[in-house]
Amino acid sequence: MSSMPKTLFDKVWERHVVVPETADHPATLYIDLHLIHEVTSPQAFTVLKERGLKVRRPDRTLATIDHSTPTLLNDDGSRPFVTKQAEAQVKTLLANVAEHDIEVHGWESENRGIVHVMGPELGATRPGMTIVCGDSHTSTHGAFGAIAFGIGTTQVGHVLANQSILMRKPKTMAVYVDGELSEGVTPKDVILAIIAKIGVGGGTGYALEYRGSVFENMSMDGRMTVCNMSIEAGARCGMVAPDDKTFAYLEGRKFAPSSDNGDYLAACEDWASLASDPGASYDKEVFLKAEDIRPMVTYGTHPGMAMPIDALIPDAADEAEENALSYMQVKAGEEITGLKVDRVFIGSCTNSRMEDLRAAAQIMSGARVVDGLTAIIVPGSELVKKQAEAEGLHEIFTAAGAEWREPGCSMCIAMNGDKAAPGELVVSTSNRNFAGRQGPGARTILASPETAAAAAISGVLVDPRIFSNTGEDAHDVV
Ligand code: SF4
Repeated sequence: MSSMPKTLFDKVWERHVVVPETADHPATLYIDLHLIHEVTSPQAFTVLKERGLKVRRPDRTLATIDHSTPTLLNDDGSRPFVTKQAEAQVKTLLANVAEHDIEVHGWESENRGIVHVMGPELGATRPGMTIVCGDSHTSTHGAFGAIAFGIGTTQVGHVLANQSILMRKPKTMAVYVDGELSEGVTPKDVILAIIAKIGVGGGTGYALEYRGSVFENMSMDGRMTVCNMSIEAGARCGMVAPDDKTFAYLEGRKFAPSSDNGDYLAACEDWASLASDPGASYDKEVFLKAEDIRPMVTYGTHPGMAMPIDALIPDAADEAEENALSYMQVKAGEEITGLKVDRVFIGSCTNSRMEDLRAAAQIMSGARVVDGLTAIIVPGSELVKKQAEAEGLHEIFTAAGAEWREPGCSMCIAMNGDKAAPGELVVSTSNRNFAGRQGPGARTILASPETAAAAAISGVLVDPRIFSNTGEDAHDVV
């Protein structure tokens, strides 16, 4: 008798259950990879020390510095930390990982970067794994067919000590996007359209699996952008089935199985078997048509308040949304294009990879950032920075008048001093537009790198499609 068809999530989950869940108790789930950074780990290490505990699996723990790190250098090459606390966080992390023999990608590493950019780059993120990190956007790693989710500081301590976590099994939701995306529609637009459809709470209690031709045709960079924002729909995690693109991305990377002795092919065979079985059932299914998706922007103070850039701002659904419109200084029924933009941020673990930077550079090539507007471009990692510079992208950005920075989280979370002034409007490729996320009183519009770049050279929010395939003359349009 054939066994019940299973979903990708079920297969990976079952491989990691140490103790099954009961009515009274969550499951104990083994964790394959624990990514740590300077902000959520110091307290966890302190607790470990107080209790006389060691890190259970230093070899399955990987550290970087990204959240508080300056993205500018002083003339002498030193790093201008915004506060003593930020500097102390980094020093503490470096001391803790040295004490516990954990691999770290610090200042000297060519692999340093935002934790969700450098993990995949190192091949530390692989299909079928369970991955956690003290950062909400750990869901990024689900692009490789891993169960990956953010944890709190207390849980960081648990995983350091036990390499496992207590967790109730989420329900499964398949999100299908089939068809062909129109010209100028990017992975960021796809995920914003999904969140707008299901709502910021729509994924609560679920593990999402992105299915359909749009994700099959999407690059690994694009899949990471989509999975990254699963948490913004409230989901525990988001996943895409591993396929030939996944295998090609991973081959030859530091932690990937060796290609010399058959290990890599054997791993690919195993990874391919993780895809959801035909006929596997999900607790919920959602369907979007690729052709219906247009370039998207947010207009409120959470990512669910997202709309096509060429639509009119929707009516507020409740008092909270009314307050959001008021905070953003926008009015229902009006166009969102034409809003004056003060800052543009292209970066974050959502959109700071090569594909993102190439797209932004294409729009900014030969153009000028509008006077009075600040545009900063922050590569996601040292590797991205190096590759972008090899392709001359940094010269395109700086020739346009944008700032080319050192890798880090930067204005995604504004912990390192990169922030907007009160009232300023930021078009940002990051993942959260909560009030004050990019500085007290700052207003954030989430968008794709294309839309952000178009805003930088236009000074106002514009539909990026006016710059598509029309050559440099398009820069005269606005
Ligand atoms: S870029 Fe933003 S979301 Fe991503 S890891 Fe850094 S702070 Fe977290």
